[in-house]
Amino acid sequence: MKAAAFNYEKVTNIAQALSLLKVHGDQAKLIAGGQSLLPALNMRLSAPQILIDLQGISELKKIEEQGQVIRIGAMVTHTQIENSALLLEKLPLLSQAVTHIAHRAIRNLGTWGGSIVYGDPAAEWPACAIALDGVMLIAGPNGQRRVAAKDFFQDLYTTDLGPDEIFLGTEFTMTAQKSFHYFEELSRRHGDYAVTGLASQVEFDQGSLSAIRLVYFSVAATPVLATKAQNLLLGKKIQDLQNKDLLAQVCALARDEVPTVADITNSAKMKTHLVGVLLERALKAISLSI
Ligand SMILES: Cc1cc2nc3c(=O)[nH]c(=O)nc-3n(C[C@H](O)[C@H](O)[C@H](O)COP(=O)(O)OP(=O)(O)OC[C@H]3O[C@@H](n4cnc5c(N)ncnc54)[C@H](O)[C@@H]3O)c2cc1C
Repeated sequence: MKAAAFNYEKVTNIAQALSLLKVHGDQAKLIAGGQSLLPALNMRLSAPQILIDLQGISELKKIEEQGQVIRIGAMVTHTQIENSALLLEKLPLLSQAVTHIAHRAIRNLGTWGGSIVYGDPAAEWPACAIALDGVMLIAGPNGQRRVAAKDFFQDLYTTDLGPDEIFLGTEFTMTAQKSFHYFEELSRRHGDYAVTGLASQVEFDQGSLSAIRLVYFSVAATPVLATKAQNLLLGKKIQDLQNKDLLAQVCALARDEVPTVADITNSAKMKTHLVGVLLERALKAISLSI
């Protein structure tokens, strides 16, 4: 099938994009890499009257470091993230996760912002943004606002972004504590969306877990933080992460608290099982990497 006819405008700055959104309201759609939007248009799941192309906004295409803050612009491609030495050094969770996103051709065009705004519950970036405690930067008719990544994803393909707003990017603040990450997703073939995935980031202070974020994706309508499991682990010593009783307890807690919904090929029961499998692997790997 082909997309319904639409008009097209390529903008070069955020003000232009905002003013076109104001004029055309819900008849307009922003386009970034087009890797999710174009299939939706071709299947006629969406039929906007005008596409507003963000490719001309160079300020959204940068990965920047300012003091303790790293900012990833909305139009940064998956491949830029993959090739970034800065991210490999400072936010290696992203460097590890990126190779799981589709295949090269899609990573060359698809963007950080497109993935975050699309809000696919099986996507890697929403879970990583929460695991890294990111802050979403949003521009709208009344100026700019900031939303914690953990509050941004509201439901299936539904985020906090309003129809008259533009997503600008995400900020990550580096902490002084020593941090470790673990990312794993289980999928049928490389490049497929995950059956179940876990993005996690932990911090240690004087040998004890001082912060921990365990974010599951491809389990429910949004990424899910396993907060009860996190609370049980807080304050534990590195060597405790090898303790079989603790591992059994924390995995049972995570399986109990993380909601799972079946997808086209996998049952909810299977996903619940994998929630524990991934957590045990993550904690063992973290304890060995220190
Ligand atoms: C075969 C295939 C396999 C894939 N596999 C994976 C995978 O394994 N993991 C994964 O995470 N993704 C996967 N994707 C999706 C891919 O990562 C997309 O690139 C991504 O979901 C959307 O990014 P985009 O830049 O292409 O956005 P687009 O398709 O251009 O836009 C997506 C949505 O976001 C909106 N939008 C885009 N940018 C902004 C902005 N700055 N502000 C406001 N709204 C905006 C658009 O209006 C649209 O609604 C796959 C895609 C394909 C085709």
